[in-house]
Amino acid sequence: MSLPINAARTVIESGYQPTPGGTPCMCGAPLTEHAGAKGGGGNKDTGCKRYAPHPAYKLAEQVLAARPRFRDDVKRYLDEINRREQATSGTGVRPSDSGRCRRAVQYRLNPPLDLVRDPVDTSAADLGTAFHHLGRLADAHFYKWVQHELPVAIPGLDAIGHIDRYDQILAIVGDRKSAGAYAWEHIGIYGPRIEHWKQAAVYGYGMRATGRPVDWIEIDYISRVDGDNEVFTEPYDEDFARSALGELQALSAAIELGVDLPRDGRGPDRDPICDRCPFRSHCWNIPAAKAAGRSPQGYTILGPDPDAAKIEWAASLTWEWKENRKEAVREYEATAPLVAGLPDGTYGKWVITERRRRMPDHKAYFLAVAKARQQWETSPPALRGEFQTWLDKIELPFRVDVWTEVRPVRVAKQTAMEAAA
Ligand code: SF4
Repeated sequence: MSLPINAARTVIESGYQPTPGGTPCMCGAPLTEHAGAKGGGGNKDTGCKRYAPHPAYKLAEQVLAARPRFRDDVKRYLDEINRREQATSGTGVRPSDSGRCRRAVQYRLNPPLDLVRDPVDTSAADLGTAFHHLGRLADAHFYKWVQHELPVAIPGLDAIGHIDRYDQILAIVGDRKSAGAYAWEHIGIYGPRIEHWKQAAVYGYGMRATGRPVDWIEIDYISRVDGDNEVFTEPYDEDFARSALGELQALSAAIELGVDLPRDGRGPDRDPICDRCPFRSHCWNIPAAKAAGRSPQGYTILGPDPDAAKIEWAASLTWEWKENRKEAVREYEATAPLVAGLPDGTYGKWVITERRRRMPDHKAYFLAVAKARQQWETSPPALRGEFQTWLDKIELPFRVDVWTEVRPVRVAKQTAMEAAA
């Protein structure tokens, strides 16, 4: 339907302002002058049988109310997409809960009465949704045979899964993920997280249950940092899919039974999944821990009033890890010189790179200031002037740090090298 652009422009040029009476009807009378409790009926004076908002006035009102803002509008649009998706996902455990903190899934599906949600920064998730949406548009443009956001019922679960991409010809179930810096590094070193494979396999299982072919599962990662892209493909494995689905079904059953599930995060300020979780205050008793002057982890794991045995356990664990760290640092410092000064390059599955970094040298600056102060104090007071003028002449020195970095070749690259060999 084409918009009444010129008519709306005429309405606005006439100085029209929306009134509490509602949008004028096609008959010219406002909504409030029509019969019925909500004004949806007719108007005797104009001979109108039924209220119908005038499209030009309606459009003019939308134009006058509009406040376009790039970021806000994108966010609103993405929220709408997410809402639509969630509305069709059902309310139970879903395939994307593979690998999620079990306690977080419990709180989502079975929230305690006193649960207060914490605010969460959704910018990373919003960016992920934006990438998904763009990917969908690109797919629809280039690959007409690929289905997107395909709803699939998963046997034994109430929720509906949404498959990012389903290639009907090659029988590939594909999932798309965006990754922040930490996740991207993890994928580079270890490849896709097992829970991502599980999610894709469960989608594959759901598709096969409806009689549709699935031969491959694929995970397509995009880096939110620099837009880099890596794709991993594996043959579909029915046993793996069954076992992944079994885990979700067990999670669903435990939640239905009201079991308190384990916390899979390490706690606030120690684990990004907890820092981004809307349940963190409740989960880790943050207000009570703060009032008691204790850490949320200590308060929650040991309890508000721990006995001596619990404290001894926590102390021995802390000591053990401290010793392990010392040992690891000693070993690393003894080993790292082996590669120092070697030429940059790829050696088997390892990449060696000499790194340089220009850094402000605060120690040298402090020594220069201390020396100037000593000289200033021993200078004749009549000649030395204000110390500030001495300070102004000392520039912040810089040093160049040089070290040899060792990193594994990214898993995606290793796989490509192996395929080419
Ligand atoms: S705060 Fe951490 S452990 Fe608790 S529910 Fe959230 S993710 Fe899980």
